Amino acid sequence: MPATMELQTFVPAPGVVLLLGAPGAGKGTQARLLAERLKVPHVASGDLLRDHRRRGTWLGQAAQAFMDRGDLVPDDLVVQMVMGRLDETDARDGVLLDGFPRTATQADALDAALSARGAAVQRAIYLELDTRVLIERLSGRWTCPGCQATYHATFNPSPSGSSCAVCGKELSQRPDDRRKVVENRVNVYLRDTMPVVEHYAARGVLSRVNAAGDIAEVRDALFAVLEETAELAPA
Ligand code: AMP
Repeated sequence: MPATMELQTFVPAPGVVLLLGAPGAGKGTQARLLAERLKVPHVASGDLLRDHRRRGTWLGQAAQAFMDRGDLVPDDLVVQMVMGRLDETDARDGVLLDGFPRTATQADALDAALSARGAAVQRAIYLELDTRVLIERLSGRWTCPGCQATYHATFNPSPSGSSCAVCGKELSQRPDDRRKVVENRVNVYLRDTMPVVEHYAARGVLSRVNAAGDIAEVRDALFAVLEETAELAPA
């Protein structure tokens, strides 16, 4: 059976896959590739929050100070925002969640909401990377304000120089990718999000993937996890 068919059976409606990992582990890039492969929407809590900020909504305004310091936005705001997104029709048959849940409270809220819909987290994949490498990666990161594509000054420069190779917009550095803020974001992650990793490990749905390779190597390791999971999934 071709791999794509196995993957279609991997996400029976409604299926939820989580991509966990510290900022800088390459979650955003890999989540886009995984979502494309699984044919489900990529829902990134950080992107949703940045979109609220751009639109100047009350939620965006409430989140701003937390985000600029590298702190987590309060659970109730983020949970409400992500659950609203999961209720949209394109998310009915499954979703790839990136950056959520980030605390034990968010994980409990997600599990309860999914169980009320007769669903559950099918697989949580944790992208592991050494703290020093995380900080180095993030502080060289440049983002397209148009399509959210990310580049790295050293490891993945844009072929179009200072503009985005996908949509041509001028690249910029997110305020929270400055070094001091980056260090705080990584520390906050280790403190608040490691319990989420343990939570899904205890439920037997966690896979760990080494995020130290290049984009294609990590992608292949992630696809291998999906294929293993597909073999375990009921037909
Ligand atoms: P990210 O793009 O995932 O690195 O998120 C950027 C920032 O958005 C984080 O540093 C937090 O301030 C906020 N954020 C994103 N997702 C969450 C979440 N699940 N819970 C709380 N804050 C979040």
